[in-house]
Amino acid sequence: MSWPVLELTNIILMNLLSLIFLLILIFSFLEKEKRPALIAAVLLIANLAFWAFLNHSHEHPIVRAINLVIIFLILIIVLLIPWRFFPDQKTITTSTIKTESIEQFDERNHMFSRNALKFYPELKELYYRSHPEYQKVDELIHRKSELGQPGGVYYEPLRSTAFKANFSFLAKLNCLAESKPEEIEEEAEKKHLFSEANRRKIREVIEILALHHGAADIGFTSLKKYLLYSHHGRHPENWGQPIENNHQTCIVILVPMKIAAIRKSPGLEVIEESARTYVEAAKIAFIITEFLKLLGAEARAHTDANYEVLLVPAAIEAGLGQLGRFGLLIHPRLGPCVRMSAVTTNLDLLTGVKQRATGRKWEHISFFCQLCQKCADNCPTGSISRGNAVPLARGFPHWSIRQESCYSFWKRLGTDCGICLKVCPFSKEDNPLHRLVRWYVSRNIVNQKIALFFDDWLYGRKVKVKFTGIERKQTGLSNL
Ligand code: SF4
Ligand code: SF4
Repeated sequence: MSWPVLELTNIILMNLLSLIFLLILIFSFLEKEKRPALIAAVLLIANLAFWAFLNHSHEHPIVRAINLVIIFLILIIVLLIPWRFFPDQKTITTSTIKTESIEQFDERNHMFSRNALKFYPELKELYYRSHPEYQKVDELIHRKSELGQPGGVYYEPLRSTAFKANFSFLAKLNCLAESKPEEIEEEAEKKHLFSEANRRKIREVIEILALHHGAADIGFTSLKKYLLYSHHGRHPENWGQPIENNHQTCIVILVPMKIAAIRKSPGLEVIEESARTYVEAAKIAFIITEFLKLLGAEARAHTDANYEVLLVPAAIEAGLGQLGRFGLLIHPRLGPCVRMSAVTTNLDLLTGVKQRATGRKWEHISFFCQLCQKCADNCPTGSISRGNAVPLARGFPHWSIRQESCYSFWKRLGTDCGICLKVCPFSKEDNPLHRLVRWYVSRNIVNQKIALFFDDWLYGRKVKVKFTGIERKQTGLSNL
């Protein structure tokens, strides 16, 4: 390479790299992320100095050789960026699994349901007679005070009562989840209303309604059996009753959580934000349910503590994202910082409509989780599995957490823990910089390794968490 060409290449690379560091600096500053802002500032200065040195010392043969090697390496990395390739690992996404063979999940086995048994001695006896394997561990969890009550590390009388108010408000709305649709007398009118063309319009209105009321995204999927719980388990009125829902379509609504609140985890801010977004998600689900009922269709809202649908697999089926190692949905744009609700209806809102991409489109998220493990490394209770082997549950491999140790820790804190959410590299603001990074990691595994290296460096691999009045060693499963 002749000197003017080399010099020009150096100047171009210097400016491009400087632009990247400058963008990181600006966005980190706006996001109030001190560490990445500081590192980006240092890198910006070092980058300018480095290329200036190369240009200044170009006559030295060793410097010239290093210069050429660096340009060559950068060129390879840049050429690799847009190329999409991932190893063929069929087990890490649900998109290749026959869902008909998946066992339904019994809501009675959910940790929240098992925790509530302490208030209903008869149900408790009934349950542990058939599930003695959970009795010992659940009794330890039952002994701890409930979220929002005195005893939790972060308990504050007024703030804890305030977040509880959201959930008790939601409980009062449960009666709205199911009611009869409006009668439509005229058969012809009904036929027109639910014609294929009109159903497409209904779907469009639902999307507009959801976004208008604050949803960040909405997806539609057919209501497969494995997306339904097998039995009710959260409330004594219908505990143990089989779930009978013959609806055709499941609509999944996604509401964004504020990243700034998640960053404060563990603390009351997390459960406050969680409560707020559960209310928002429920509000949208109830409005869509009412809309469908007014049209004469059957509909049911699935909102906090009143679900028949498992929201995470439903969201994945609806093409809203992929399952993360910590058992939560990772949305391609919003990461895991979302809360969801759903509406099921007997109307077919899928026929004749181009479906959006399902799980396979977002399988890069599953690959990233295999590399990353940051949530598992930072979970104070060891509730998240490590390694590449995806655990088997309900007859198919998928990530799920040890709910006993996780929930026990929540009760100890008196709030949602959320540390795994906080450290996840996908938990970033939805701004141009992070959108660019999300696109970058969606292309191939080399990009993912580079992005993960920088994420660890900029934000830290092991995130320091301040536990108020709680020793880290006291948080493990042994201390349930
Ligand atoms: S919420 Fe906390 S305890 Fe539960 S899995 Fe996440 S990091 Fe672990
Ligand atoms: S922290 Fe890493 S491994 Fe865990 S869910 Fe997020 S991306 Fe996946």
